Amino acid sequence: MFIANSFKMRYCIRILTFLMIDSDSDFEPLTRTKVICTIGPSCWDVKIMKELADNGMNIARLNFSHGERSQHQESIDKIAEINKGRHLKVAIMQDTKGAEIRSGDVEKKIVIHEGDEVVFSPKPLPNEKRPVIIVSYDGFAKDALETKQILIDNGEIYLEIVSIEKNGTVIAKAEQGGEIGSRRHISLPGADIDLPSITEKDWDDITFGAKQNIDFIALSFIRSGAEVESVRKLLEKLKSTSKLIAKIETVKAVENIQEIIEASDAIMVARGDLGSDLPFEKLPVVQDEIVCRCKDEGKPVIIATQMLESMMEFPMPTRAEVTDTAHAVSTGTDATMLSGETAAGAHPLLVLKAMKRIHKATEQHLARLETVYDIRFSSKAEEEMDSAVKLAEEQHAEAIVLLSDTGRTARNIAKFRPNIPIITIVSDPVVQRHLTIVYGVYPLYIESTASDEEMMDKGVELAMKIGLLHKDQRVLLLRDRANKPEVVNL
Ligand code: PEP
Repeated sequence: MFIANSFKMRYCIRILTFLMIDSDSDFEPLTRTKVICTIGPSCWDVKIMKELADNGMNIARLNFSHGERSQHQESIDKIAEINKGRHLKVAIMQDTKGAEIRSGDVEKKIVIHEGDEVVFSPKPLPNEKRPVIIVSYDGFAKDALETKQILIDNGEIYLEIVSIEKNGTVIAKAEQGGEIGSRRHISLPGADIDLPSITEKDWDDITFGAKQNIDFIALSFIRSGAEVESVRKLLEKLKSTSKLIAKIETVKAVENIQEIIEASDAIMVARGDLGSDLPFEKLPVVQDEIVCRCKDEGKPVIIATQMLESMMEFPMPTRAEVTDTAHAVSTGTDATMLSGETAAGAHPLLVLKAMKRIHKATEQHLARLETVYDIRFSSKAEEEMDSAVKLAEEQHAEAIVLLSDTGRTARNIAKFRPNIPIITIVSDPVVQRHLTIVYGVYPLYIESTASDEEMMDKGVELAMKIGLLHKDQRVLLLRDRANKPEVVNL
């Protein structure tokens, strides 16, 4: 499998001759790495949702694999209400269900022990003595030819395939047993499932999201650039401003990663399903490679799933989760995502705060390291922004402030991952929300004014009012649309 041999370590990490442990572990909602929180029963209450917004939720994710559309509409309305009082807006992401194989409905959970032979069938088998798991897909046996294993719920239960029968059933022996309730997720690791990635339900849901210009639509189980293009055509037809995120969750998507990145506005490394489709030990390498490629292309990238999973139950993350999240931040991912942790966990606010603490500590650590970036320019504009970032570093600027019409200048600066905030003044609320996903960018809305100068002054004034900038700070300004950088003291 895999991607080309293009992996290069982007950071030369100098061995630290001292180890700095900050006693200050103050909570900081404004980290450069963004956070996406999945909305669900644990945070449907508008008070909790508002607390999430106040504590650094940049994007609220609505998971269309679960729940009714009316419930999602309610969440959209609540976020719109919360945004009314905020200068730093919360954007909304719709996440489609995608083509999944699920087990059928059962009255009683099916109990499987290690060593049991189990039959997977698209149809009921009333005379079968062995446990039967009904699968939601007629082509299951044909696709099972491409793999040796069956995973249930991302590997909580797994079975080795023994035989594939002519009648469309698959016999498998349990290596790890467990209980199987209704509609459990079933995967055939590495097999290229012969279902369309975008189902009828997805097209319907995408139309619902696109019609109300939902900020981001995340497409599940995408396998090619052409699939992203087909959704883009629908957005064009509906004159929608929604941005498209491709979720990378299959081996096929990894093989086609470059064309998918090029066709998409952003990428999500959806580690739940990807970690079942790949041998799990390959996941860290694939994750880093995708982050590097997205940075090269200047496309935002999200690391998702099981980041602080133990906090579904416990008030503190495991050390391994802390280190995993810190790793994602170190490699320069734009955003990390919380799934069940905020949607259905016991501590939605605590988990967001924990994530922000890890972001802050890691970003401070990165600022102390000697970093050598090896990021490609793909345009003159990007080259100019690289120079602007270098100037900001040489001049010890504490923030970059710029005007941006479409958001491109902000994205071009973010590509070079400065260790300081990129305060971006925009006069289009849609562009403002689309920039929420981008590393280090804090987009502020100012109504369009007669001159760039006036717009910048108003933007700086607002940034000071809400505590993004302070008096006497040294900042790099890109004061006009010609983007001539200038370092000033406020
Ligand atoms: C994933 O598989 O990691 C993921 C984000 O997708 P979902 O939560 O929809 O399964």
